[in-house]
Amino acid sequence: MTIRLHNTLGREKQDFVPQDPSRVTLYVCGPTVYNYAHIGNARPAVVFDVLFRLLRRTYGEDAVVYARNITDVEDKIIARALEEGTPIPEITNKYADIYNADLAGLNVLPPTIEPWATKNIDRMVEITQTLVDKGYAYTAPSGVFFDVAKMDDYGKLSGRNIEDNEAGARVAVSDEKRNPADFALWKFAKEGEPEAAIWDSPWGRGRPGWHIECSAMIASHLGTTIDIHAGGIDLQFPHHENEIAQSECAHGAPMARFWLHNGFLDMEGEKMSKSLGNVKLVHDLLEQWPGEVLRMALLSGHYRAPLDWTRDLLEQAKTTLGRIYGALQRVWEADGGTANDTAVVKALSDDLNTPIALAELSRLASEAHQAADADDTARMAQARADLLAAGQMLGLLRQSPEEWAHGGSDDEIARIDALVQARVDARQAKNFAEADRIRDELAKEGIEIMDGPQGSTWRRN
Ligand SMILES: [Zn+2]
Repeated sequence: MTIRLHNTLGREKQDFVPQDPSRVTLYVCGPTVYNYAHIGNARPAVVFDVLFRLLRRTYGEDAVVYARNITDVEDKIIARALEEGTPIPEITNKYADIYNADLAGLNVLPPTIEPWATKNIDRMVEITQTLVDKGYAYTAPSGVFFDVAKMDDYGKLSGRNIEDNEAGARVAVSDEKRNPADFALWKFAKEGEPEAAIWDSPWGRGRPGWHIECSAMIASHLGTTIDIHAGGIDLQFPHHENEIAQSECAHGAPMARFWLHNGFLDMEGEKMSKSLGNVKLVHDLLEQWPGEVLRMALLSGHYRAPLDWTRDLLEQAKTTLGRIYGALQRVWEADGGTANDTAVVKALSDDLNTPIALAELSRLASEAHQAADADDTARMAQARADLLAAGQMLGLLRQSPEEWAHGGSDDEIARIDALVQARVDARQAKNFAEADRIRDELAKEGIEIMDGPQGSTWRRN
């Protein structure tokens, strides 16, 4: 099945044909690790995880090389280290671990490669040197800058021209730059900055600019021209524009054949911002909601459209997912079907149409109910296999229906099972005070015990 993707470069959906189907290359800009990720940061990680799954399904698991970087040297990290008096690696290791644990909670597969910026400094210096040698870069008092006026098609990704940039945007203004849109390739170290953020270079001690980090990691780990570069729309300008400028002027070849951008995530109709106090951290959300509910909510809209993150959206995702797990429960024992995920693959192959793919998941759930109503074992087995295969593509239904109903990990379920059994034992020993104590303890956690002729079962309220 041909995959069609909306390419920001051509501003249209195009047939995706990789340069080499045995090595399909994908890069997504990763986090700057100095604090917790918010749910807007998780959107690209989740939607492009679906792309990763689709590419693996299409070209083979080993044929896709997906790199998502860790930015572990950047101004904000240095500021945090100085402010707290904490060594930089302590900060970056801590928040990289938290980021990866949060994403695992959202069923995001680990990328094939997770390059760290500080492990690729040599390549950053090398690319900067090439740009200086070719006349695309100049040295100023605070560092080495890229001269955007030297590149004929600067601005082609975002459709901005150099004059637009003077109007402001996220471009730092400074007297030392020839043009306001020029950006730092190398920043000289300032007095008092931590040694862990300082490297030698032909121009003086310092650190790389943020944009050159991605250019270098892509060149080192994926190649000069990659198949797909993806990220949030907020990175399109200036970050991705500047990645293109550096890589293409240094290498004389296109940086990426496809550029994909996901839309913004809003909070109850407003922009998410610190000043509005409406920033939702993935870490906190995962304590309040099952990870699959958050994931389903993130995939409920098309990735290119803005997504309004609301309580209703989450409630709806939880209800829908509960219904699908309910259907799966009814066919759970009927294994042996041969999965057919064609409809979901077809939806995703059309520019990652996750709303249609999710509708297909609901249709398969209805089919499971009908098969169970008809007590048709072969049909039930087929419905089970189809549901699980569709779930695999979307990164959903990764739990058993029992785990879903019990709302926890295997360890957590085992702990509650043991308490429920301890209560049964206490009752049999006529130790009713102990039995009641256990019941009350579980009730405090929102767990209800139901006594029936088959014994005691429990559920989470
Ligand atoms: Zn990047």
